[in-house]
Amino acid sequence: MAEIKAIGPVLPGSIVERSTRCQSSGCHCRADPPRLHGPYATWMHQEGGRQVTRTLTQEEAERLRPLVAADRRLRALVAELESLTVSELAASGSETTQRVGKTRRQSGI
Ligand SMILES: [Zn+2]
Repeated sequence: MAEIKAIGPVLPGSIVERSTRCQSSGCHCRADPPRLHGPYATWMHQEGGRQVTRTLTQEEAERLRPLVAADRRLRALVAELESLTVSELAASGSETTQRVGKTRRQSGI
């Protein structure tokens, strides 16, 4: 854990600017033409199949944007390292690639 933490903080998901409508019916955001609220910086993230959104202050958005970029970069690096290792394994000549039949491993999710 210390090893992975040394990389620094990374934030999954994405930060987007969103304009929104509120709930009150007499508001200008529901007029014609509508004048929406915002744009607000919003952090959006999938968590266990559920979309989580959180409105950020401008300061938070500026602070967190690099962490989202760092997360992207880290994931890209892990994917690259994985495919490199997989192709090295394939190149090592062992032809005993087994098809997984009925014995599926429990993924724990
Ligand atoms: Zn409104």
